[in-house]
Amino acid sequence: MQLIVEFPVDAEEYAAQGLAQNVSPPEACPHCQARATLEALGYYQRNVTGGKSTVLRLSIRRFRCQACGKTVSILPAFAQPYRLIHNRAIHRFFCGQKSGADVTPWRALLRRYWQKFGSWFSRVDAVLRRPFDHVPHPRSPERWWEAVVASYGDMAAATRLLVTEFQTTLFGRYRCHRPNTPCP
Ligand SMILES: [Zn+2]
Repeated sequence: MQLIVEFPVDAEEYAAQGLAQNVSPPEACPHCQARATLEALGYYQRNVTGGKSTVLRLSIRRFRCQACGKTVSILPAFAQPYRLIHNRAIHRFFCGQKSGADVTPWRALLRRYWQKFGSWFSRVDAVLRRPFDHVPHPRSPERWWEAVVASYGDMAAATRLLVTEFQTTLFGRYRCHRPNTPCP
């Protein structure tokens, strides 16, 4: 299972400072709720864009629960689950910024993210409706994005809260965000 945790640094600093090594285990296992049972289980590697056109290789901390045997990984909130481009650049692009050091090199891919966001919300907005019950039902990706920003502030915060509370991202649902479901 993947948990999303806020780090007070960007991807470059996380990688340069080796912060994956300092990640603490969650207090309780998200699968079985046992406390103080998560033990370090190495890392997996994933890519994320850096400040410009660079791609960084990140170490993601994993833990295994000694009670139920299931695993948990800790994804920094600056990264988008299963997407290469970091959340700040996605946020800027979705807000209409079509240029900038971390946007321009990735415009084609960011356009595909926007299409994915639009198709995901139009197909399954009933699933995602609950977090937005307090806003009028948006009718377009642009209005949905405005609702996301108004409700959560930015892409990183929206992703962290939607994954934590509703087991979904802004681009799809993934088995890795549900407790007691094997990750592919
Ligand atoms: Zn457990």
